[in-house]
Amino acid sequence: MNILDFSSIDDLKRISREICNKGWGEANGGNISIRLTGEEQAPFQELQSADEETSLPFAIPELAGESFLVTGTGVFFRNISAFPQESLGIVRINSRGDGYSTMWGYSAGGRPTSEMSAHLLSHAVRKKVSSGRDRVIIHTHTTNLIALSFVLPLDTAVITRELWEMMSECLMLFPDGIGVMDWMVPGSLDIGLATSHLMEKHRLILWAHHGILGTGPNMEQVFGLIETADKAAEMLLKVMAAGGKKQAISAGQLRELAEAFNVDPLKEAIT
Ligand SMILES: [Zn+2]
Repeated sequence: MNILDFSSIDDLKRISREICNKGWGEANGGNISIRLTGEEQAPFQELQSADEETSLPFAIPELAGESFLVTGTGVFFRNISAFPQESLGIVRINSRGDGYSTMWGYSAGGRPTSEMSAHLLSHAVRKKVSSGRDRVIIHTHTTNLIALSFVLPLDTAVITRELWEMMSECLMLFPDGIGVMDWMVPGSLDIGLATSHLMEKHRLILWAHHGILGTGPNMEQVFGLIETADKAAEMLLKVMAAGGKKQAISAGQLRELAEAFNVDPLKEAIT
């Protein structure tokens, strides 16, 4: 089996190009991880890594034995398609869930993203709350959502409601809202722990003045979720620049929408 033929690698190459087209992938901004399917994990189950194991500052027994495709630290998204073996790696979590080994990739001597704590802790949470469905986490520097974090209160209910009011699709796509965090030091264990805590309830997390994290079952859906939230943020910024809202989708209309599409909206955003 040629690892470069994995559909996860194809998806990652395609979506990282899209992210660059959106203008979200400046320099080495952003990182992606995918928990591999059983079929894609199979080649690594019996293999021993030649590399020394890397210890994690936490234990995630929920992910013991799982393998992840992860973008490397310092990697420019625009180069992933041309240099997948240098830009990407596959890591396997050990049987205790407190360390990992590189099984493939990072061929130029790289290592996984510096946001590994946020990715792995969030995967552990989402695997549990989605009953194994959510396998992908994308972190990217969405221009409009970042801009919004300078002008709106950093409050989950407020930002969720503002985005929902911009277009009907938002409440349908993310009824669970967008979890909002204050600015924190990137790459730290603290930002990883705080993010994974919010991932219990939300599939989109806004890191103020930094970017977004989205999760879901596949790259397409996660990208779509992020793209929709950022488009709503773009419209809100335009509305603000044009003098502010004169009218919007009302709380009653949002409830009608939720009922029509049988979704359970985040309660604190719809009062
Ligand atoms: Zn970032």
